[in-house]
Amino acid sequence: MSITTRLDHQFDKDHLWHPYTSMTNPLPCYGVESADQCLLTLDSGEQLIDGMSSWWACLFGYNVPELNKAAKNQIDKMAHVMFGGLTHQPAIALGKKLVEITPANLEKVFLSDSGSVAVEVALKMALQYWHAKGSPQSQFLTIRNGYHGDTFGAMSVTDPEGSMHELYHDFLPQQLFAPQPTIAFDEQWEAHDLNAITSLVENNQHNIAAIILEPIVQGAGGMYFYHPQYLKGVRMLCDKYGLLLIADEIATGFGRTGKLFACEYADISPDILCIGKAITGGYMSLAATLTTTHIANTISHGKAGVFMHGPTFMGNPLACAVANANIDKLLSFNWQQCVEQISTNLSTFLAPCKTLERVKAVRVLGAIGVVELKQAVDVAKVQKQFVELGVWIRPFGKLIYIMPPYIIKEAELKKLCDAIYQVASSS
Ligand SMILES: *Cc1c(COP(=O)(O)O)cnc(C)c1O
Repeated sequence: MSITTRLDHQFDKDHLWHPYTSMTNPLPCYGVESADQCLLTLDSGEQLIDGMSSWWACLFGYNVPELNKAAKNQIDKMAHVMFGGLTHQPAIALGKKLVEITPANLEKVFLSDSGSVAVEVALKMALQYWHAKGSPQSQFLTIRNGYHGDTFGAMSVTDPEGSMHELYHDFLPQQLFAPQPTIAFDEQWEAHDLNAITSLVENNQHNIAAIILEPIVQGAGGMYFYHPQYLKGVRMLCDKYGLLLIADEIATGFGRTGKLFACEYADISPDILCIGKAITGGYMSLAATLTTTHIANTISHGKAGVFMHGPTFMGNPLACAVANANIDKLLSFNWQQCVEQISTNLSTFLAPCKTLERVKAVRVLGAIGVVELKQAVDVAKVQKQFVELGVWIRPFGKLIYIMPPYIIKEAELKKLCDAIYQVASSS
């Protein structure tokens, strides 16, 4: 085991904000010294099996030789140059790959620095599309329990329950919310599930710019898997009323659900696609928004003539080089079989949780396993239990879920699932 140095936890606690926790009374934080494959090594010397892939990002775990090499090679050439007026091979190669592997007709690529920004870009593309057509269509329709990010446009289409909307209410554009789909992924499809969204569209068709949703898997909004026919139906609604469809595949992209992109379950193509999270295999922040030639041309013919967005780190060569190596690695290995195997194992190993009094439901799709409890957990307490059991699993609300790196070994996966069983039966 490597020698570790205790971090200055007091400084961290006093000065560094962590996600969604109090600055003055934060939830405890564990120090990470290093990470390799599926193991995080803490500054206490303990090693934890990673069940979170650092929030959907690390497809191949940590310290991946091909990705390290890509980063090192690129950094010696150039870490970054502005994308305004300049271009480079890493961005061109990535653009080609993304056009090729994403659903049909998505041919124009906007590179940005994070998922939330990719969603803002998607919303702005839709708005500029209608602006260019001289139409006032400027509202967005989405489904409840969705999550699209923490910037303002993204927040406005994220589920309004809880503090996100309440806190910023006067500043947030008002969007339209259809109920969450009720027919689950593996249930018998019934067409009435589309009734509510259909009437919302019919009643607001002249105001709606686009429908935005997470295809098949609703992530941070509830870890719920809905029926592919619902997605197909939404695509048909958009076609019927001439609305744009934005698919947010920031969590689902790159094989996580068992398809390279979750849209493939419904055999549909969105008009605008957002991807991020796993694109660099968890190495650095990068995201992309793809759209059709038709939408790009329409925007270009509008009054502005250009698309009005341009982040400082757009097309960052270092991030693009790692993304290229990550996508090459994904496509050169039998990811589909691997995700299927993880899926089968998750189903087997999580099945005992179904018998627990405190468990409401157990769901598995692709390399995602979810145990929904009847009551919300005490995160600090449960987190500590997991660490003591040698695993890194971060629950939220009633949900204990894992989406491990694709390289996870069967014994490691078993240990993750056993830990969930133990925590769900005791806490
Ligand atoms: C994580 C996530 C985002 C936001 O991405 P960030 O990189 O955190 O800004 C948007 N949409 C979905 C579906 C996500 O899972």
